[in-house]
Amino acid sequence: MAKQPRYIFITGGVVSSLGKGLASAALGALLQARGYNVRLRKLDPYLNVDPGTMSPYQHGEVYVTDDGAETDLDLGHYERFTGVSATQGDNITTGRIYSDIIAKERRGDYLGATVQVIPHVTNEIKDFVLSDAGDVDFVLCEVGGTVGDIEGLPFFEALRQLGQELPRGQCCFLHVTLLPYIAVAGEMKTKPTQHSVKELRSIGIQPDILLCRSEREIPKTERQKIARFCNVRESAVIQGLDARSIYAVPLAYHEEGLDREVLNHFGILTPPDADLSKWQEIDNTQSNPDGEVRIAVVGKYTVLPDAYKSITEALVHGGIANEVKVKILWIEAEDFETMEPEAVLRGAHGILVPGGFGERGTEGKIKAVQYAREKKIPYFGICLGMQMAVIEAARNLANMNSASSSEFGDEGENVVGLMTEWTRGNERFERTANTDLGGTMRLGAYPAVLAEGSLVAEAYGTNEISERHRHRYEVNIEYRQSLEDVGLRFSGVSPDGILPEIVEIPGHPWFVGVQFHPELKSRPFDPHPLFSGFIGAAVEQSRLV
Ligand code: GLN
Repeated sequence: MAKQPRYIFITGGVVSSLGKGLASAALGALLQARGYNVRLRKLDPYLNVDPGTMSPYQHGEVYVTDDGAETDLDLGHYERFTGVSATQGDNITTGRIYSDIIAKERRGDYLGATVQVIPHVTNEIKDFVLSDAGDVDFVLCEVGGTVGDIEGLPFFEALRQLGQELPRGQCCFLHVTLLPYIAVAGEMKTKPTQHSVKELRSIGIQPDILLCRSEREIPKTERQKIARFCNVRESAVIQGLDARSIYAVPLAYHEEGLDREVLNHFGILTPPDADLSKWQEIDNTQSNPDGEVRIAVVGKYTVLPDAYKSITEALVHGGIANEVKVKILWIEAEDFETMEPEAVLRGAHGILVPGGFGERGTEGKIKAVQYAREKKIPYFGICLGMQMAVIEAARNLANMNSASSSEFGDEGENVVGLMTEWTRGNERFERTANTDLGGTMRLGAYPAVLAEGSLVAEAYGTNEISERHRHRYEVNIEYRQSLEDVGLRFSGVSPDGILPEIVEIPGHPWFVGVQFHPELKSRPFDPHPLFSGFIGAAVEQSRLV
C-alpha cells in the first residue's frame, strides 16, 4: 500500500513578493537533505486556465514542464531546489478548476445538483491536492496570493477542510508574513503579522508555524509577542532574513530551525540529520568567485527580471560551474533601432538573446546577433534567439535580404515559419493559423539528435538529448543547405530530421542557437552543459579584452 504523505500548506500574508515560492522550495530541499522524498505543488487563484497566455510583465516567466504544462514560475524554483521534475499535475488555477467543473456540468455529470463553490469547487481543489502524490513523504502545497484576497477564499476553505479530513498529525499550516521595520520609530512592527494571522483564523485556519520575513534580527521580546498574539509556540516563530543569494536560503532557514520545527510538528522529534553539503559547496563557490564575467541579455521584457527568471538562474549556475560571478547587463533590444550595438555591447563577454513573442525588438536582436558573430563574442540564442540567429545569417551571409519569420507577417522570405504539424513519439499534433493561442504551441520535452563532433555534442557529452520547448514557429529545414553553405551548421535536429533544433557556427569561439529552453532544466548543483559552456567561453573572452 502506498504510504500516506504528510501535507504542508504554505500560505502568505501582509504583502505579496515575500518569497513564499522560494521558502517552499527551500523547505523541500531541507526535507530532502534529511532523507525524505518531497513533491511541491502550487495553487493559483487567478482565472486564467494557465499562465501560458499571460504577459511576462504580469506574472513573470512561464515555466514549462517535461509533460508540456505551462505553469507558474514558482515551479521553476521547486525544480531548481529539489531536482524533482514538476508535471502538469503540480500547478492548478481557478480558471482550470472552473473550466473542468463547467465541462462536467454541461455533460450532466452532476445529475441535476446545484453546482456550488462549496462543495464542488472545494472538492476539485482537494482532489487536486491529494491526487497522484506518488510515493512521497511530504507534499508541499503553496497557495498563490495573500490571505484575504477574495479569489483565494475557495482555496483556503479547501485546505481548512483537509485539515479536518486528513488523519490527525498529517498536515501542517505554514504562514509566511512580513515584519516591517519603521526606521523613524526605530521599531519592528508585529501588527501586520497579527492581523494576517487573525484573517487566517477567521476563516478557520490556525497556522502552526510562522515564517517571518524581516530585514533585521527579530528580538526575543518580539518573537514572544508574536507567539502570544498569533497563538503559536515561540519556537514556531521562525526568522527569515534576506539572504546573500537565493541558494543560501536553505542554509539560513535550517539555521533558524524551520525544518526541525516542521518535523517536530509532525511528531518527528529526533529527525535524521540534515546533509547540507551540496548547499554549502554552492554557497562557498558563490561567496568566493574567481573573477566576474559580464553577460548582455538582449530582450524585450528587461524591466522585469522575473520575466527571465530561469535564464538568470541558469546563468548563475553557469557561473557556479566556472567559479565566477556572472553580472547580467539587461539590454532593451529596441534601443538598437536608434543606436549602434557597439556602444552598449562593447564591454560584454557574452551575448544572450532569450525567447520572446511578436515582432517588437526583433530588428535590434538581429543586430545583436550580427555584432556577436562579427566580433567573435560568445553568443547564445534561445528559442526566438535561435530564430534571430538564422535570420541574421540568411540576410547577411546568404544574401537573402528579406529573410524573416512568418510570425512578423508574410512579406519577407520566411526562413522561419508557422508549424502546423509535429509529432511526439507516436502522437501527431496539428494546428492551423486560427487555432486558440492558449496551450497550442509545441510544448514540453522533445528529443533531438546532435551531429557527431559538433560543439554541442561535445558540451552535452552525448548525441541524444531531450529538452523542453515552447514555441509556434520553426526554422524551415528547406533552407538548411543554403545556410550551411555560408557557415551555419545545423548541429541538432529532431530524430525524424525535419525540425532544426540547434545551429552553431564552427570557427566562432562559441556561437549556439537552440530552438528549446535549456534554462528550464539547469540546477545549481547540476548546471546545464550549454550554460556552463557559454560562461566558460565568456571567461575566455574576458581574458582577451
Ligand atoms: N515567438 C517564437 C515562436 O513562437 C519564439 C518563441 C520563444 O522564444 N519561446 O516560435
